[in-house]
Amino acid sequence: MNAQRESVRIVLASRNTAKLAELRRILGGGYDLLPLPDDAPDVAETGGTFEENALLKARAAAAASGLTAVADDSGLRVDALNGMPGVLSARWAGRRADDAANLELVLDQLTDVPDGRRGAAFVCAAAVATPDGEERVVVGEVRGALIREPRGSGGFGYDPIFVPHGDTRTTAEMSAAEKDAISHRGQAFRALAGLLPEVLGS
Ligand code: IMP
Repeated sequence: MNAQRESVRIVLASRNTAKLAELRRILGGGYDLLPLPDDAPDVAETGGTFEENALLKARAAAAASGLTAVADDSGLRVDALNGMPGVLSARWAGRRADDAANLELVLDQLTDVPDGRRGAAFVCAAAVATPDGEERVVVGEVRGALIREPRGSGGFGYDPIFVPHGDTRTTAEMSAAEKDAISHRGQAFRALAGLLPEVLGS
């Protein structure tokens, strides 16, 4: 702990404790990652891409906290739906829809799509913004296919219907560590961690 006297404070533009824990694991020592303060304003995710939304959230968190901020935006891109739900993944079945309703809607929409055309990808953009306007954004992606019946109880969102290429299990049937190792968010956050020394000038 004494070795951390130079640790840099960074704000994560999220109050999601699982995301905070995941990013702390990836960043390792040297950074003191803080949740978004309660009084920080909510940011409307109005961007047309994951990158734009991640940057919007990181910029707003940097402005609200006066600290360097990191943020992510993620979702599912379905080939047979021309890349949708994309940035609308969290609210695909409506503003108040939950994960189960979103997943059911995608399954319904793909009912007639044959197995060979059920390709999809989880995509995550991770952004960093400093209070002086320095910004970077990186993207991670994991490709796979959507099955017809949900399987597994881990993860969240569309995990029970997504089987990554090279595996036979859905991401809901993997341990958190197994999913982190291949996931879009794991890839994006690891790439972002590699950029932080340059962005922070340290
Ligand atoms: P965000 O919180 O704006 O990034 O929206 C993420 C949405 O995309 C979630 O509500 C899920 O529907 C979907 N999503 C993103 N990452 C994953 C994942 O790792 N597994 C399953 N669904 C995901």
